[in-house]
Amino acid sequence: MRALFLYLARRERFKNFALKFGFFRKAAARFIAGDALEDAVRVVKLANRRKLTGTLDLLGENTLTKEDARTACEELIRVEDRIHRECAGCNLSIKLTQIGLKLDPGFCERNLAQIAGHAKNLGNFIRVDMEDSSCTDQTLDIVERAFRDFGNVGTVIQSYLYRSERDTARMLKEGIPIRLVKGAYREPATIAFRRKKDTDANFIRIMKTLLDSEIHHAIATHDSSIIRAAKEYARSRGIPKDSFEFQMLYGIRRDLQRQLAGEGYNVRIYIPFGAQWYAYFMRRLAERPANVAFLVRSMLLERKTNGRFDDNL
Ligand SMILES: Cc1cc2nc3c(=O)[nH]c(=O)nc-3n(C[C@H](O)[C@H](O)[C@H](O)COP(=O)(O)OP(=O)(O)OC[C@H]3O[C@@H](n4cnc5c(N)ncnc54)[C@H](O)[C@@H]3O)c2cc1C
Repeated sequence: MRALFLYLARRERFKNFALKFGFFRKAAARFIAGDALEDAVRVVKLANRRKLTGTLDLLGENTLTKEDARTACEELIRVEDRIHRECAGCNLSIKLTQIGLKLDPGFCERNLAQIAGHAKNLGNFIRVDMEDSSCTDQTLDIVERAFRDFGNVGTVIQSYLYRSERDTARMLKEGIPIRLVKGAYREPATIAFRRKKDTDANFIRIMKTLLDSEIHHAIATHDSSIIRAAKEYARSRGIPKDSFEFQMLYGIRRDLQRQLAGEGYNVRIYIPFGAQWYAYFMRRLAERPANVAFLVRSMLLERKTNGRFDDNL
């Protein structure tokens, strides 16, 4: 099931077919703040009122032309301005393929420099998401240089990749803040763990290294046993609650988000918005069979969303 959804996430023809159905859009609304920046800002403000911070993701990836990549870059800069004007406790997550990585890495790096430079002037932080393994080396190289130039850029390490302990050590040597995740793409067994048990064990190993490093990192998972392990490890080493953060995706494990915030941990919600939600939604379906059942129910009932965007927080 996971492989099928990750395969379909990259099929343009299936995308064009699926988007014809209203229920598909309605089911996706569970994981996406809305189409407009307005919707995302409303969710961030609500999150802030609930003692949660946010990271906005303007949806879009694998941009096909330089013109589109430039447009995405300009939009991201507008998002930064809006965050600065209206949102407390919010930063920006971006994907390098959205700003041209697959078209021309040098051009992508210049775009990132503009985004990071602008964020720096506004006193904000940019998280560069990690995409599939064809992007890993270039992403780490570009982030490393951007961090040296601007100091406000971090990236993501995926515990399903065999290489990740090495990459973590390299990033830590530079002092680069990391978001640790399990990994959301379809990777071959030659480079990635296949069994959840192995991915989880690697996550816990890397998590301990991060917590020991005295840099502000993010533990991004909805896995309650891993979260419990992180809390216990931090407590046993006398690592203060405010020296790291938990991160979760908008619309997933809201109970846990609130519980952790109530316990005094920093919790940041990844809030995607925009019209290009198809690939993101397919990855969320791939992660959890229950989400597919939810999609099927939406199809059968043609459920109406009630237009409120705060339901999923
Ligand atoms: C803030 C954040 C940023 C991320 N950034 C990246 C990135 O840059 N690159 C990348 O490859 N991946 C990224 N991911 C996705 C990540 O790699 C995993 O695919 C995703 O988090 C699911 O794994 P899990 O750690 O929650 O554990 P799992 O073992 O998959 O799930 C643990 C529990 O979480 C809940 N859960 C998990 N997924 C879902 C879902 N889709 N719907 C409903 N419940 C669910 C269920 O209760 C499940 O039992 C990010 C995740 C988060 C939270």
